[in-house]
Amino acid sequence: MPKRVLITDPIAEEGIEKLRAHGLEVDLKPDLKGDALVQGIQGYHVLIVRSATKVTRAVIEAADVLEIIGRAGVGLDNIDLEAAKERGLKVLNTPGATAISVAELTLGLILGCLRAIPYLDRALRTGRWEKKRKGIELYGKTVGIIGLGRIGSEVAKRLQAFGAKVLAYDPYAKDSPWAKRVDLETLLRNADIITLHVPLTPETRHLINADQIRQMKNGAILINTARGGIVDEQALYDALVSGKLRAAALDVYETEPLPEDHPLRSLDQVILTPHTGAQTEEGQIRAAVELADRILQELS
Ligand code: NAD
Repeated sequence: MPKRVLITDPIAEEGIEKLRAHGLEVDLKPDLKGDALVQGIQGYHVLIVRSATKVTRAVIEAADVLEIIGRAGVGLDNIDLEAAKERGLKVLNTPGATAISVAELTLGLILGCLRAIPYLDRALRTGRWEKKRKGIELYGKTVGIIGLGRIGSEVAKRLQAFGAKVLAYDPYAKDSPWAKRVDLETLLRNADIITLHVPLTPETRHLINADQIRQMKNGAILINTARGGIVDEQALYDALVSGKLRAAALDVYETEPLPEDHPLRSLDQVILTPHTGAQTEEGQIRAAVELADRILQELS
């Protein structure tokens, strides 16, 4: 009997083909969520998700032959890891697959803030030719990277090409040829642009709050492509309105999707993208293929 795989979020076709080519029976059921998933999980040896499916304790306890939960991507916040551990399930993910995609979006957001690209686009379309509005260069600026892991390191490497000076705060990471390691206070006081690349943990929740923002340079720019909750959004809003911060760009939010009436939506100096850091064709193919490889290895 072939092992059966259930996929409940869209993943790249290349990964699915790989599983089928190795004799696995794969069912795609992107609408199977919540109670329906609790009912439908029986008979599957592998469950593959991205971030939309919530793999709750109820799902895990309802499973009869489940061996592996696979996450095409990084974050495991949507999987009850404690329940998975209790049932002896393997939880596999693909942490490195989308690092370049997120790093490139981060660079885009930095440049977008420095040159107010989305703002100028909106102005032009509404009939305003703001040719005299001045941006600032990335060349010669100091960028502070908080979290020098996979994504933070890719950002640091790419910043070399722009002639930026790179500081990094990460008490746990290895040294990098692309960044000078400093403590958090030094980074906050010296960076023109601060970009976040840490996981959301009890230690990093509201790592950037009103106190930290006060220590930043006047006119600093904040970028968050890591996780909502690392930045205190109210403190960020206040700092943008007061002019303490020049601009900010966020890909991730405390509540996703970002509520319709969220105050940050009203500010022209903020770029908002819908948690799209990992969403590139290449990143998604890499994530699906790497996950398929890891599953096949685990089952062999
Ligand atoms: P990683 O584990 O490779 O790197 C994270 C780094 O943060 C590590 O080096 C770790 O030492 C450091 N760190 C942990 N706690 C810290 C603290 N308190 N202070 C300073 N540094 C600390 O992770 P990664 O793959 O580089 O991902 C980074 C972030 O990007 C994560 O939050 C991840 O969820 C997020 N992410 C977002 C998207 C997106 O779509 N926007 C996609 C993928 C990943």
